[in-house]
Amino acid sequence: MTQPSLDQYCVFGNPIAHSRSPFIHHAFAEQTSQNIDYQKRFVALDNFSKAVTEFINQEGKGANITVPFKEEALVLADELSERAALAGAVNTLTFKNGKIYGDNTDGEGLVQDLIRNKVTLAKSRILLLGAGGAAKGVLLPLLSQAPQSIAIANRTVSKAEGLCQHFNDERIYACSFKEVADKEFDLIINATSASLAGDLPAISHTVINNDVTCYDMVYAKDKTPFLKWAKKHGAASTIDGLGMLVGQAAVSFSIWRGVSPETLPVIDELRASFEKE
Ligand code: NDP
Repeated sequence: MTQPSLDQYCVFGNPIAHSRSPFIHHAFAEQTSQNIDYQKRFVALDNFSKAVTEFINQEGKGANITVPFKEEALVLADELSERAALAGAVNTLTFKNGKIYGDNTDGEGLVQDLIRNKVTLAKSRILLLGAGGAAKGVLLPLLSQAPQSIAIANRTVSKAEGLCQHFNDERIYACSFKEVADKEFDLIINATSASLAGDLPAISHTVINNDVTCYDMVYAKDKTPFLKWAKKHGAASTIDGLGMLVGQAAVSFSIWRGVSPETLPVIDELRASFEKE
């Protein structure tokens, strides 16, 4: 009997060696009995569109896109979801009927992870630290959860102001790190890359109280500097971005396969694999 052929997916990036996406998607496939294969593809910086075309010619069905190609993927797509268009970046491509569809599942991955962690978003006062690609990508999904307000604080304040203009929603306002010191929030999301360099965004610890939830989009084996700092100053709970990573993959998987996998077992498996490294 001939084996059924596997539908092919991949993640394009540069660098890509560190990517956990193949592990995550294979775990989803096993869990939901889907016949797929998912590989990492390293792409030279000037070769992204050619690499995508090659993959389509090899009958690839879909791809995740990571740093630094998310904006190029946006340009390459024939059709975009509203959230991808507003985010100005695409992390999920679907190849169907001779067309390339672009979506951005990062924000939905974050929202689903917050909900899984029982964080109340409706009517909440959110502080979003950072105004880069990740911050931009999560704004529409966060707004769709009906928060009371979202303050965007960034080291370079003009970038936060630019995001406010782009989204043009009265619930969003921009401020400096200094200006948040005397404000109260229910949820603080660190969407800066400071943790990657072992740094903290320069905000006052007075924003931390024993009702606030702190979320860092960065994940690591040990608590990130931001989460350690938040815990030290008494935050109610501290959550890292591993669930967001698995969550965005789950949304991509359901776009491609029409089934929504469970994220928790895969988050647990990944966390356990970190412990062994
Ligand atoms: P960008 O490079 O687009 O933006 C970086 C942001 O971090 C900017 O706002 C920058 O401020 C700020 N920043 C960097 N260093 C510092 C510092 N020392 N102090 C204060 N602010 C700082 O990156 P992205 O937006 O794409 O990514 C941000 C983070 O989110 C990354 O660490 C990434 O790994 C993570 N991420 C996690 C995901 C997940 O699934 N868990 C998904 C997507 C992203 P300024 O404008 O002033 O330079």
